[in-house]
Amino acid sequence: MTTIGHLINGETRCDAERTQAVFNPSTGAADKQVALASKATVEEAIAAAQAAFPAWRATPPLKRARIMFRFKELLEANSETICRLIGEEHGKIAHDAAGELQRGIENVEYACGVPELLKGEHSRDVGPGIDSWSEFQPLGVVAGITPFNFPVMVPLWMYPMAIACGNTFVLKPSERDPSSTLFIARLLEEAGLPKGVLNVVNGDKTAVDCLLTDSRIKAVSFVGSTPIAEYIYSTANANGKRCQALGGAKNHAIVMPDADMDNAVNQLLGAAFGSSGERCMALSVAVAVGDAAADALVSKMQAAMASLKVGAFSDSSNDFGPLITAAHRDKVVGYINSAEADGAEVVVDGRHPEVEGHAEGFFVGGTLIDRVTPEMVSYKEEIFGPVLQVVRVKTMEEAMQLINDHEYGNGTCIFTRDGEAARYFSDHIEVGMVGINVPLPVPVAYHSFGGWKRSLFGDLHAYGPDAVRFYTKRKTITQRWPSAGVREGVQFAFPS
Ligand code: NAD
Repeated sequence: MTTIGHLINGETRCDAERTQAVFNPSTGAADKQVALASKATVEEAIAAAQAAFPAWRATPPLKRARIMFRFKELLEANSETICRLIGEEHGKIAHDAAGELQRGIENVEYACGVPELLKGEHSRDVGPGIDSWSEFQPLGVVAGITPFNFPVMVPLWMYPMAIACGNTFVLKPSERDPSSTLFIARLLEEAGLPKGVLNVVNGDKTAVDCLLTDSRIKAVSFVGSTPIAEYIYSTANANGKRCQALGGAKNHAIVMPDADMDNAVNQLLGAAFGSSGERCMALSVAVAVGDAAADALVSKMQAAMASLKVGAFSDSSNDFGPLITAAHRDKVVGYINSAEADGAEVVVDGRHPEVEGHAEGFFVGGTLIDRVTPEMVSYKEEIFGPVLQVVRVKTMEEAMQLINDHEYGNGTCIFTRDGEAARYFSDHIEVGMVGINVPLPVPVAYHSFGGWKRSLFGDLHAYGPDAVRFYTKRKTITQRWPSAGVREGVQFAFPS
């Protein structure tokens, strides 16, 4: 059986004392295992990153950027392999994996502009003959801890910018689908990154806790579930580190009575069921304003879902694939059971999908649940599966109150034809990323990504301009040069 190891100082390492099975969720088979790093292995990675820091910090930003240009080309040239690796361990269909890779590459493209981004601020004559400027210096060794659902894109939110800014990096990817993450880290070395600048340690809580407490780590970027995000943020802070920790979500779409219902249904199909709903920006709740809108939405949705195709990652005609593990599949089914037991109506039931030839895969079919209410556990908690719940309300204010009262505030969307209503919604909704007739308002790489409330702990969002601030510290220099008389001492003209 293949054992997936670590990348430390440019070498593949494997401490296989503790391992964990890596499944192919489409077949249910544990084809591989991943080494779980010991504290000593993580410390070795931190030491490698620290040793690489002085030379990397001194490397001109333009030269760092040139490596990112080559990295982008290698990511594109290897896209088929990357998408296959994502599919084998995550279960994502090739077209969806390609989308993930593309959004990741866009962050590398942004990092290519780092000489411009690090230009700093300058003020001449802040006093007589005094100039002052601020520059942005790297922090040192920084760490990233990432979730299973975007094994390529989320790491690319972090290390290209951190490294382009002059830091060195230790990445701890998800232990559930580590191969694509490790593969692209090697591509960055192939692009010319010096050894030790990017290190990857696979592992679990042991590795994470080592990164959170080691004084050589100056900052931690985390993306994952909210309970772990909160733990990461408080522990990193208690250990004197800068931290941004992005957590879970429960994204609502308001469907207004004036919405183009066919368009809303189309958009909701992709946003609720794409990637099996295992996206932090998945729309998992549709809040229909008025019974007429709700009835139309539910009946059109039910009809459209008849043609949804769930199946193995290897068949690109499928719309979405399996869930990540058998345990997660059972958890998702448990939420559907609980909604039903609480009195909601399961309109389309995906609990027992038939996927020919893949009886052991971790599949749940697209599920639509109507008449969900805010007291239900299935409404309060993140399901992270292909389940769309419909809540019926009477007014837009009521719909917005629901969203504002929810503990999560990652993404949201309104479907309407009324520009004023949309403007009011985007002004007053307590959510970090807002779509107006756009179901997945994921910011492009030159903006920054982040939710509000318990979807993000920290001040700065991920990637884009906020990443430049997160991965650098400001230094402000004020200078005066009293004359030493040198200029006056040499005169080539007749004194006047
Ligand atoms: P997770 O929280 O289980 O794991 C994330 C990372 O934390 C992994 O690397 C894991 O090894 C580590 N980890 C897990 N338990 C830990 C512990 N007890 N102590 C220390 N480290 C621990 O999340 P996941 O299941 O991999 O990913 C899905 C979650 O991530 C969902 O909640 C989803 O909404 C969220 N997510 C959020 C965003 C965002 O941008 N806000 C993006 C993607 C995913």
